Amino acid sequence: MSVKPSGFIQEEPLSFEYPAGGHVGVKLRALDVPEVDPAEAMAGAALRSDGLQALPQLSEFETIRHFTRLSKFNVSIDAAMYPLGSCTMKYNPRINEVVARLPGLAHVHPLLPDALVQGTLEVLYRLDELLREITGFEAASLQPSAGAQGELTGVLLIRARLEAKGERRRYMLVPDSAHGTNPASAHIAGFEVREVKSLPDGTVDIAHLRAQMDDDVAGLMLTNPNTLGIFEREILGIAEIVHAKGGYVYFDGANMNAQVGIARPGDYGMDVMHLNLHKTFSTPHGGGGPGAGPCLCTRELEPYLPVPRVEKEGERYRLNWDVPTSIGKVSTFYGNAGILVRALSYILALGGDGLKQMSQVAVLNANYLRHKLANVLHVATEAPTLHEVVFSDKGLAEHGGITTTDLAKRLMDYGFHPPTIYFPLTVHGALMVEPTESEPRAELDRFVEAIVAILAEADRDPDLVKTAPHLTPRRRLDETRAARQPILRWTPEGSPATK
Ligand SMILES: *Cc1c(COP(=O)(O)O)cnc(C)c1O
Repeated sequence: MSVKPSGFIQEEPLSFEYPAGGHVGVKLRALDVPEVDPAEAMAGAALRSDGLQALPQLSEFETIRHFTRLSKFNVSIDAAMYPLGSCTMKYNPRINEVVARLPGLAHVHPLLPDALVQGTLEVLYRLDELLREITGFEAASLQPSAGAQGELTGVLLIRARLEAKGERRRYMLVPDSAHGTNPASAHIAGFEVREVKSLPDGTVDIAHLRAQMDDDVAGLMLTNPNTLGIFEREILGIAEIVHAKGGYVYFDGANMNAQVGIARPGDYGMDVMHLNLHKTFSTPHGGGGPGAGPCLCTRELEPYLPVPRVEKEGERYRLNWDVPTSIGKVSTFYGNAGILVRALSYILALGGDGLKQMSQVAVLNANYLRHKLANVLHVATEAPTLHEVVFSDKGLAEHGGITTTDLAKRLMDYGFHPPTIYFPLTVHGALMVEPTESEPRAELDRFVEAIVAILAEADRDPDLVKTAPHLTPRRRLDETRAARQPILRWTPEGSPATK
């Protein structure tokens, strides 16, 4: 480990690379059985064959420092604005954590009989009810553990419904501006993807949709507001075109933060959708989970929802496994129950007016940034946008030849997580900013000032920006190699696996 001045972010080796000091984190009683080499016993044959000689030898204190240092390598919403477009990185109120840690909820075993977990079942039932009220749908399953899994569940419902009607349709329509998970979900559910073109402002090209929709198309997957943050004005007409040919509209609800308390997908003709509780409803995300992507649908699609369903009989709650038409289970037990508790806590804490205000302020904050930055960056669309704003790289290279990547990397030196870049693909060199409602005006102003300062730096000294970041524990990584030849596990020096 080299020592160099780096403030409070210290370089940190892997725990395996610490010098073996013979330290341990636990104190065990004296042995009353024959002694064995602990490293041998714990590492097991599989690890030893890779040349792993010993497990890390760290005391409790060294272990705490190891993980605390590593945690500082990461950026979080608790440290600064995290304007990652489409991801809705909002503050996670601590009351959610307090509620989720109540022993009666946190310590429940998922295999307990219904009679002993009435409280947990009530939490699930009430969340189900509130999410249906928020979205305008008749039925829900809280089981899917991510947005993408909610999509897959929803598309499977469409397939099951069509099969029940004796139809096996081949295609699913997906607009070219869609999130990558949409075509992936359609494909996994057994459909071939047919692309629908979008107009320059990212809204659906209605004429192209009409041409693509026929009797062999199961439905359309749609994000609204779309990835440019524009509300689909023709949404009723779009639903009509799909329904007229016997198809169903899947609604990607990841952008619900723009419309909670204002518009309900169930009211504007959508058939099935998912929510990202880890986006819209403030449960933690980043780093891969845990998340929750409840699936909501119309009465027509309800018989196919995953089992078990949470039901109420009189004053008692129960899990109903006996739904022969169901597509089956999509998660173990009842999904990520701890995340569901947090989402309910958030919804109850804000109430109906609070949730509406959440969306209004999210839209206001994004438009504040759009307005403030319109003089220095190129706004990708003329049309009014809601909870996020996308800039293109038009004119950016006039500042010393920098690119969207350079701007994003330099933002890290100013203490901001970079916005989403180069997505949507329909905008050249896209920079997609979603501040969410959490950010106070002072932080939004700080972000604007950082962008203005970076452009001025690029005019003066382009290399400073082109080689950024300079103040992070790691500099520019080889992103192509990271994607093409990922090294997914550590192997010790000299082990067979490294050769
Ligand atoms: C985030 C997102 C998804 C996928 O959600 P995950 O929880 O990451 O699986 C799908 N569609 C859109 C538009 C999104 O922003």
